[in-house]
Amino acid sequence: ARKYVLTKYFQGEPKKSDFRIFEEELPEIKDGEILTEAEYLSVDPYMRAYMIGYKLPTDMIGGQVAKIIASRNDQYPVGKYVAGSFGWRTHTICNPKSSPYLGFMPITLLPDMSPHPISLGLGVLGMPGNTAYFGVKEILYPKAGETIAITGAAGAVGSHVGQIGKILGCRVIGFAGTDEKCEYLQELGFDHAFNYKTANIKTALREGAPNRIDCYFDNVGGEISSTIMGHMNKYGRVAVCGSISSYNDTALPKVTILQPSIVFKELKVEGFLVNRWLDRWDEGIKANMNWLQEGKIKYQEKVYNGFDNMVEALVGILRGENTGKAVVKVK
Ligand code: NDP
Repeated sequence: ARKYVLTKYFQGEPKKSDFRIFEEELPEIKDGEILTEAEYLSVDPYMRAYMIGYKLPTDMIGGQVAKIIASRNDQYPVGKYVAGSFGWRTHTICNPKSSPYLGFMPITLLPDMSPHPISLGLGVLGMPGNTAYFGVKEILYPKAGETIAITGAAGAVGSHVGQIGKILGCRVIGFAGTDEKCEYLQELGFDHAFNYKTANIKTALREGAPNRIDCYFDNVGGEISSTIMGHMNKYGRVAVCGSISSYNDTALPKVTILQPSIVFKELKVEGFLVNRWLDRWDEGIKANMNWLQEGKIKYQEKVYNGFDNMVEALVGILRGENTGKAVVKVK
């Protein structure tokens, strides 16, 4: 097995020299265990933010879709695919029953997804899809006719959130970093999409949300989030999902003080981590699978190639290269 070990804390953007690639011999598998070979590895923004909390050197964390190549567990036969938080490594031995949660997601036997690629187990039918599903359903609980604003809207989570919003009969406005991404969001059915790098955010909000915002799905944090919360209706809900605008910063970000908006508009602002719903994981996968099959959820992927290009892929998403979910095809 080959694996990435993080040997230096990130300073600014992640660099290849922050990691070392190690080879390791894996033992024979025991009763109940499976041996998997990674097919797709995930790169996600949290990888940049979370590693600060680990003692170094440490194996790099992350999700993957992997093929079962040896099994001593009847429920996990050779040839099937699983998704799991196995980290940045080519081969893994695990026991799905005795240690089902290695990280942010359970080890899941993937259903047949054809004609869709198996990599959807890292996107629409995986952790980002469930982040969108539970974030909307449990934190925003929008009613038909309400307006939802989404930042990071063209990414894996944001593009999915907007489409669920449309399924629920809401008006959806999104903010993304290029004009091409905004065109894509309109193809997905977003009512308005704005390039946050060139648009005046207040003007965009007046144009896109004349009845103001009821629900805000916040993927980025920072100044734009303060502006959006200032444009919300009374009793609005804010799902604080991520704060990618500051992940590469070494100092704490400076943001406008939000408390007056929260108090006077009586907003409900709630941070969440998708692993709050590990016990309902299958519910999210099933709902997203149904919408996918009905053609109500569409997706794009940005596929990087090669195990040796993991760092380029991680840097790529932090620079905004991806539309939809970014994955690395291992071979
Ligand atoms: P994305 O697919 O959205 O990829 C990241 C995107 O973020 C980039 O494409 C880029 O798009 C945008 N971005 C990068 N830098 C900035 C910046 N400075 N300001 C604004 N946008 C920026 O990632 P995900 O969909 O996987 O994740 C989206 C957010 O959700 C992240 O904050 C992530 O940490 C969080 N998350 C949280 C989870 C939870 O359990 N709470 C679970 C999963 C994700 P652009 O071109 O638009 O700038």
